[in-house]
Amino acid sequence: MLFDTHTHINAEEFKDDLEDVMDRAKSAGVEAMVVIGFDRPSIEGVRPLIERYDQVYGAVGWNPVDAVDMTDKDLERIEELLSHPKMVALGEIGLDYHWDKSPKQVQKDVLRRQIRLAKKPVCRLLFIIGRRRKTRWRYSARSMQRRSAASCIVTAIIGNGLKNVLN
Ligand SMILES: [Zn+2]
Repeated sequence: MLFDTHTHINAEEFKDDLEDVMDRAKSAGVEAMVVIGFDRPSIEGVRPLIERYDQVYGAVGWNPVDAVDMTDKDLERIEELLSHPKMVALGEIGLDYHWDKSPKQVQKDVLRRQIRLAKKPVCRLLFIIGRRRKTRWRYSARSMQRRSAASCIVTAIIGNGLKNVLN
C-alpha cells in the first residue's frame, strides 16, 4: 500500500482535473494521502477535500516563508481546523531562510507559536517540517523535544540537516 504523506492537491493547478489526478493516483497504488495547507487559501482548501474523499487526510500549518503574514486569527483558524477528525498533522511548518520575505526572528516566533498549539490536546503531535540549506535545524529539534512532540516528518533536508535530526 502506498500512502502519500505530502500532497498539495488543494492547489489551483488541480482545480480542473482533480478527478483524473485522483484516478491516476489510485491506479498507481496510492491508497491514501495527506493534503497539506500552508497559507490562507491552501489551508481553506483542505477541509473540502478530506470531506469529499475517504482516502484523503489533512494537515494545516503556517509556512515559514510567509511568517510575517500570519495573524492571531490565522492561528485560531488552524487550531479550529485541526479539531476535524480527519486532520492528522500540523504542518507544514518550520524555518526557511532561503527567501528573504520573513525575518528569522519572525519565523522562529511563528514556529514557536505553532509548536505550542501542537501541544494542546486537541491537536496531533505530528509536525511536517520543511527545511532548506542555511536553516539551522537545531532550533526546531530542540523546541520539539521541549514541547514533547511525539514524531515529525521532515522534508527537504539539505546538508547536515539529517545528521542533526538523527542526533
Ligand atoms: Zn509541501
